[in-house]
Amino acid sequence: MTEDMMPISLENLMNFNCNSQNECFNDCCRDLNQALTPYDVLRLKNNLGISSQVFLKTYTSLHYGPGSGLPVIEFKPNPATGYECPFVISKGCSVYDDRPGSCRMYPLARAIARSRETGEISQYFALIEEPHCKGFGKKTGQTVKEWLKGQDVGKYNEENDKLMELISLKNQILPGKLEGAGADKFYLALYDLDEFREQIVEKDLLNEFHFPKDLLKKIKTDDEVLLNLGIDWVKFMLFGIKMTFGG
Ligand code: SF4
Ligand code: SF4
Repeated sequence: MTEDMMPISLENLMNFNCNSQNECFNDCCRDLNQALTPYDVLRLKNNLGISSQVFLKTYTSLHYGPGSGLPVIEFKPNPATGYECPFVISKGCSVYDDRPGSCRMYPLARAIARSRETGEISQYFALIEEPHCKGFGKKTGQTVKEWLKGQDVGKYNEENDKLMELISLKNQILPGKLEGAGADKFYLALYDLDEFREQIVEKDLLNEFHFPKDLLKKIKTDDEVLLNLGIDWVKFMLFGIKMTFGG
């Protein structure tokens, strides 16, 4: 934990108020180094009504973690506008309803630990107090728990925790740098969902698995079901863990 991070619990008061009257309005949406999760990509591309291929190509950059070899997707900020997020406009966030989980959480950071015995997840929070952000020290009477509810982070945390579990499995089973086909599969099934769908439906990518017919029907229209299938597939292809098909 760095010096400007202060541990905080769900029951503590959240003395923080972000609004368009703050002199720093939109400052947190520039100079970004922001990684997107698969669920962030899913929500954003659907908000914009475009395919994952077009979204990834237009709005993001891809590199591979130097130690892990895992794909890292970040917003492609525009140097001409002070490295602003591609979705910030004068009124705020143009994709507000589907903004990424990290945008919802800011200025909180969240870490999780999963019990080996029960599988139960414990979460820990810290406030990140950065000099540019002037929302601190404003009393709202809200607890951290209430503030989080207002940010609608529950679904994001639930989906993003599946990625955390996958990364943790990778570190245990395949420590070191993932190369070539393994990294490509990770990217395809988690981030490039529309291409993954096309490869399943049109090119029989998962033919060998004989998965349930109703699942095949669902993935044609339901991106969340498709993403869960992608995670299942990556666990099998990379770590040999039997596919559950959502069961
Ligand atoms: S997605 Fe929205 S909230 Fe997040 S950095 Fe971009 S403009 Fe800001
Ligand atoms: S810098 Fe802080 S207070 Fe200002 S707009 Fe961003 S989150 Fe809100």
